[in-house]
Amino acid sequence: MMLSPPRHLLGLLLRALAALWSSLAPLWLWGAPGRRLPAPEKRSPSGTPVPLSVNYHFTRQCNYKCGFCFHTAKTSFVLPLQEAKRGLSLLKQAGMEKINFSGGEPFLHERGEFVGKLVQFCKEDLQLPSVSIVSNGSMIKERWFRCYGKYLDILAVSCDSFCEEVNVLIGRGQGRKSHVENLQKLKKWCQDYGVAFKINSVINRFNMEEDMNEHIKALNPVRWKVFQCLLIEGENTGEEALREAERFVISDEDFERFLHRHKDVSCLVPESNQKMRDSYLILDEYMRFLNCANGRKEPSRSILDVGVEDAIKFSGFDENMFFKRGGKYVWSKADMALEW
Ligand code: SF4
Repeated sequence: MMLSPPRHLLGLLLRALAALWSSLAPLWLWGAPGRRLPAPEKRSPSGTPVPLSVNYHFTRQCNYKCGFCFHTAKTSFVLPLQEAKRGLSLLKQAGMEKINFSGGEPFLHERGEFVGKLVQFCKEDLQLPSVSIVSNGSMIKERWFRCYGKYLDILAVSCDSFCEEVNVLIGRGQGRKSHVENLQKLKKWCQDYGVAFKINSVINRFNMEEDMNEHIKALNPVRWKVFQCLLIEGENTGEEALREAERFVISDEDFERFLHRHKDVSCLVPESNQKMRDSYLILDEYMRFLNCANGRKEPSRSILDVGVEDAIKFSGFDENMFFKRGGKYVWSKADMALEW
């Protein structure tokens, strides 16, 4: 006959299990890639936002001509390397933890050497927890990963469609090259060199009906950022703009339908127009914060001239929206439970 254990022993066992779970659960959750983290308790003593996560668009030049591009080639200016490093050091002193290099196309300038040196500097010298790049992926070579892959946490590759005709309509046609094959190659290099692979998609009139479930699941990115096509005065709409993106714009309902179609993709992170406008800290090629709150990019003075604290006051940055949209997430590859 089986004897049941005394009730007090069962209680003790359950309490021990509960204590074990409460000590291990945070570690397990911390390791989930893409998981949002809560807002920190402390803000800057002066009340100005801390530049926790910064997007540095160091070049406006690009080899593509996407019809909705909201950071167009209005100048060909790029800071000298030493000045860019000085600005990054100032940002680190002001509390930066994550830097994202963007453009334009970051791998165009000096064939990727410039961004490689910045990535190395941010990881080795500044010891930033997270260093990432957003690229259209068309110019990256394996040689780059061999030299700089170890300093990079995340590579985000833009992909708006898995159909070449749609990419041509958008302005991202790769001619004889297949965008899908290129993505697979980049994903493999990311695996080989220990870089987290992310995909960014802009949902617009030409891809809003597409079903991307199978392709995204096969590529298995740590994060799939899905943006609603956004109009920015002076960039992709208005008299001074280099693009006319009106014909790409979709309604909130169209965007919601796309999201609903992909609701089973667990790494999907949606970004509506409202979330995008003022929840990013954007630095332009002169290291000026760009304030997008009024639907156009109004520059502050450069952090190289007035310092971070004075410049950031004019950034229009909404720190609460940044945390609400999950802007702070597990962004260091050292903390991610990568599969490889
Ligand atoms: S790849 Fe990016 S930077 Fe280049 S044109 Fe397209 S949206 Fe603009």
